[in-house]
Amino acid sequence: VSARILEGRPIAEALRTRLKRQAIDFQRRAGRPATIAVLHVGTDDASLVYARAIERTALQLGLESRAVALPAQAQESDLVRALVRLSDDRGVDGILVQLPLPRHLSQRTIAEMMDPRKDVDGISVTNVGNLFLRQQSLVPSTPAAVVSLLDHYRVPLSGKRVVIVGASNVVGKPLAFLLLQRDATVTVCHIATRDLAKWTQQAEVLVVAVGKPHLIHADMVRPGATVIDVGINTLPDHSIVGDVDFETVREVAGAITPVPGGIGQLTNIMVLRQTLLAALLQLRELV
Ligand code: NAD
Repeated sequence: VSARILEGRPIAEALRTRLKRQAIDFQRRAGRPATIAVLHVGTDDASLVYARAIERTALQLGLESRAVALPAQAQESDLVRALVRLSDDRGVDGILVQLPLPRHLSQRTIAEMMDPRKDVDGISVTNVGNLFLRQQSLVPSTPAAVVSLLDHYRVPLSGKRVVIVGASNVVGKPLAFLLLQRDATVTVCHIATRDLAKWTQQAEVLVVAVGKPHLIHADMVRPGATVIDVGINTLPDHSIVGDVDFETVREVAGAITPVPGGIGQLTNIMVLRQTLLAALLQLRELV
């Protein structure tokens, strides 16, 4: 039997409806739309495309989006100044910094300088710490999308063996902590993991976030497992695939996310969900 396909779209649609209502509610109470600032350094095409996509979705939902662009040769001090200005701006509820930054700039600066209340992608030192301590409100958007998708399709997590392949700060590591909060038994694999298949074969839920097409094939997957493919890879023929060999793995897995059409459908909307959450929390602080 072929696996159940876990599409991102129905979740995105349900979220859109909810967020539109919240956006109206915020505007009524605050007298202005909830606002996200997207800070972009340099001219990297992929992140420009992403910034525009966020802007489009924000407008559709009734949020305002402000693009803040710094030139590729911007210095650390310029980045700090921009972050402080946005952190102090009463008209800005959420700040999203487009990553990766040009090489000469440090991500650490953002993690330290960003107002954690506006940190809609959960990258500030405070929010990372809160996630570790189970006190978080703002978490990284891609792991949040993974958890939302698992919840939507009612995939049980408590006591389940979850294997995450990929240990980055934006996906693998924060996801491990979110799933620990759900009482899953979590294993994180990475580039130095020996005999990857030995680990992945044990997973009742397998999440892959690496950036290598066809890394995971059918004989690495436990029959009936739920497979979440976070990877986004562009092949030489310009087609987009994940990290999982979809056609063969779907014959073994119980459920699987497609790429495109799975987690990728949700990431933008998660950032805006967090923007509204940040906006409402800050509004509550004022009253
Ligand atoms: P990254 O490069 O920061 O991290 C990759 C991780 O994979 C590292 O922990 C590394 O140790 C591990 N890894 C590399 N090769 C491996 C191998 N052969 N076996 C096991 N582990 C290996 O990447 P990232 O930013 O976490 O992104 C991962 C993928 O997810 C990329 O394809 C990216 O495009 C995609 N992504 C998708 C979304 C989305 O919205 N769907 C969001 C963010 C990232």
